[in-house]
Amino acid sequence: MTAAPRTVVRLAPILAALGVDLSRQRLARPRTGARGVKAIGRGYPAPPGTGPARETCKSCHHLTRKRMAGTYLKCELMRHAWTGGHGTDVKAGSPACRLWERA
Ligand code: SF4
Repeated sequence: MTAAPRTVVRLAPILAALGVDLSRQRLARPRTGARGVKAIGRGYPAPPGTGPARETCKSCHHLTRKRMAGTYLKCELMRHAWTGGHGTDVKAGSPACRLWERA
């Protein structure tokens, strides 16, 4: 049994024929994944950006460095949900969430 041939559809010429100007389009980033998990990651106890202005995870008391083969940034408040993967990492530069506390 052979695999069916793959069909490649190029959208740009089709959209151009329909009069869509791609140079002015910005791709929307999905806010949720296939299972409704926020694309920002599962390591944040509250949505980033809901905390004090101009503060980030880097200046927060709860930011933790988990040292394994490498060093992974995690939020201590989400320790119960930590996995061995990147899904529960946080970024030091993320805007502070509403549970931010000064380090
Ligand atoms: S601001 Fe603090 S509490 Fe909020 S996700 Fe970052 S490290 Fe965790």
